Amino acid sequence: MATVIDGKAYAAKLRSRVADAVSMLITHHQVKPGLAVVLVGEDPASQVYVRNKGKQTAETGMESVEHKLPGETSEQDLLALIDKLNNDPGINGILVQLPLPEHIDESKVINTINVAKDVDGFHIQNVGKLSIGVDSLVPCTPAGCILLLKDHLGDLTGKNAVVVGRSNIVGKPVSMLLLKEHCTVTIAHSRTSDLPAVCRGADILVAAVGVPELVKGDWIKPGATIIDVGINRIEAEGGKTRLIGDVDYTQASKVAGAITPVPGGVGPMTIACLLRNTVIAACRQHGIDIPAGL
Ligand code: NDP
Repeated sequence: MATVIDGKAYAAKLRSRVADAVSMLITHHQVKPGLAVVLVGEDPASQVYVRNKGKQTAETGMESVEHKLPGETSEQDLLALIDKLNNDPGINGILVQLPLPEHIDESKVINTINVAKDVDGFHIQNVGKLSIGVDSLVPCTPAGCILLLKDHLGDLTGKNAVVVGRSNIVGKPVSMLLLKEHCTVTIAHSRTSDLPAVCRGADILVAAVGVPELVKGDWIKPGATIIDVGINRIEAEGGKTRLIGDVDYTQASKVAGAITPVPGGVGPMTIACLLRNTVIAACRQHGIDIPAGL
């Protein structure tokens, strides 16, 4: 049976390292990192994410600021708020919860965020920096995948990595990060020919598709490491719902060497990496070395 890669436990350790870094910044540099999260509209899932982000930010000792705006907020008003946050020295990280209402141009909003405060790593300059392999603020979920992989496998050099999914949020950035770690990277998507055969070549398989249990046990090379990014809510018994990944966990865990569960794998890493990015951003803005352990 595959080893279970416990993202929940790793994320808790990372949050504790972030808290230590925050305490050091406050004590030695009089810098209390601040994260502003902006939510437009009443989407229930987004409200839960924003609440969790605020709670975990405060728990690490950072300043947590939430801006909840009504769904009918104009693009101009949202851009004005971002401009204010860009110029607020107490705010080191800005995150605009996606998706935004349809009348607002998402890329315009993201690219208005000060690139040094773009803790989601979606600003076009951070995307560009990542693709040419220079230091940038890296998207949180992909960063979480790499931390789990390195924690489990150590050096990733020379591994064959297959990423299923080519979104700007997960697939592409995780591919760039794997390349930076010297993997040989294949990016697969909905038009890939013979996806099972492509997956069978993977020492590392990252599934970021959004199709429940797409990846079957016989798509997996024996001993491979599987990172399941997928979060799919399905109907369960008794009218309840439950979360499953993009990988058929029961089948895959009989073949793989190691696998992330859903929930409790990649999911908890996202907010932990957001907090880490906020500390990194604060350090860079103040010319402070990034604390060891981050
Ligand atoms: P997108 O819908 O933006 O992208 C999905 C990708 O999968 C596309 O590139 C698409 O290909 C590809 N794809 C779709 N169907 C197939 C198929 N049958 N075979 C091969 N490839 C396919 O999704 P995201 O990247 O935003 O998210 C992916 C999953 O990760 C979702 O389940 C999401 O909920 C989850 N997620 C989890 C996060 C976390 O853990 N915190 C954060 C973000 C996402 P094409 O480009 O050709 O259309």
